[in-house]
Amino acid sequence: MNISYSQLSSFLKCGYGYYLRYVKGIKYPGNSDLYLGSAVHSTLEAYFKAKIQGIDTSREQLRAIFSDIFDSKQYKATEDGDEVVDLVWREDKGIVKDVGLTLVETYYDTILSKPRCPDPLESEFWFEKALDPEVTIRLKADLITASGKVIDFKIKRRAMPQADAERDLQPSIYALGLGTPGIAFEYHQLVRTKIPKVVIQEANRTEADIDGVANTLIPPIIKMIHDGIFPPSGMNTWACDPRWCDYCGTECRSPRQISLVVKEKDE
Ligand code: SF4
Repeated sequence: MNISYSQLSSFLKCGYGYYLRYVKGIKYPGNSDLYLGSAVHSTLEAYFKAKIQGIDTSREQLRAIFSDIFDSKQYKATEDGDEVVDLVWREDKGIVKDVGLTLVETYYDTILSKPRCPDPLESEFWFEKALDPEVTIRLKADLITASGKVIDFKIKRRAMPQADAERDLQPSIYALGLGTPGIAFEYHQLVRTKIPKVVIQEANRTEADIDGVANTLIPPIIKMIHDGIFPPSGMNTWACDPRWCDYCGTECRSPRQISLVVKEKDE
């Protein structure tokens, strides 16, 4: 069985949402946030792939790359490789594009044009780690630097507090995947506040953190998936809300009527 960080994270958020998405294969419509995030990611991927080949990209060129990607009729927003089919624009598309242009400009001014600009080794890099003969985790790094640092780009409306970065699951899973405790993991958050800003947060992980996800967190999840047990999130959690769950009110019309455990053994 192959499982990605997104799938693990989806299961932890809501087992029933995982079931709808990855077992039933029900795609949910993307939204303007996802489209914007995907277009910014693709722009930075283009920037760093060019840089790896020794090609510098100017601020104006970066704007043009973002603009072309955003406007392209062929462009499909993706979430970790999963293409989004039906896009629901919750905001005016022109305003979202302006936000994206401002964000890539801000990132250029704050990071890319400065000596602190990451020295890229790989951009949009997929790698795998076999946990045992049956289970492999698949991970995608937005950027790996020449010094081995993993950088994850996030487009946020509000910067994640440092305390959240310190306990977030993602750096632990990536340290496990790379097999290197102490990896430097950096969130580069492009924050779409009134005056956009870039917030960088580091999250380092120890051998104990890696052991925790490998031996305590992941095995029960794999077992539940294997046994067809997909517990929905508690109804009072933040996740069970139309703002954060695209199944809420559509595929999952009556969350309160979902039994605590959905068994799919007969399918
Ligand atoms: S509405 Fe709640 S229970 Fe249903 S899929 Fe979404 S998070 Fe899970």
